[in-house]
Amino acid sequence: MKFCSHCGSAALEQRIPEGDTLPRWVCASCGTIHYQNPKVVVGCLPDWQGRVLLCRRAIDPRRGLWTLPAGFLENGETLVTGAARETAEEAGARVEVGELYTVISLPQINQVYVMFRARLLDLGFEPGTESLEVRLFEEQAVPWNELAFRTIARTLRLYFLDRKLGGFPVHVSALERRAPRPELSGAA
Ligand SMILES: [Zn+2]
Repeated sequence: MKFCSHCGSAALEQRIPEGDTLPRWVCASCGTIHYQNPKVVVGCLPDWQGRVLLCRRAIDPRRGLWTLPAGFLENGETLVTGAARETAEEAGARVEVGELYTVISLPQINQVYVMFRARLLDLGFEPGTESLEVRLFEEQAVPWNELAFRTIARTLRLYFLDRKLGGFPVHVSALERRAPRPELSGAA
């Protein structure tokens, strides 16, 4: 942060405000405390007769890799409308957003993924400006080595596993920073 978004002053300092427990950017000029909190990424897993809809990213990061439709929740939006909007934008697809499925915290990058199951309503999908390609995949055809994000890989793996088990409970989990490679840390 360079300038106070309230008064425009550059006199920002990081300190723990009275009664608080963490350092915040505080404007020395107007006293505004600038809280910074995680962002919510919302999306869904659209299913069509057992096949899942994936988008190949046309934008960085991870351009060219595959993902489920997902993106940052907007102000004034609910999780369900956000998931449907992202699916329309990235995949040109109409879905009925269903049950909550995975909630994945990413504390290192200050994001929380919230993914729903969804039913694709028709086959009239087409890539939006953020996608190169949109396709339905059978489980065996999912490009596991070309998935853009670990959150997406985890959601898909759970989905195919739960489908075999016959139920879709909500999975709440976290993805921490990757463990250091053994040859770098000296561990076995
Ligand atoms: Zn200020």
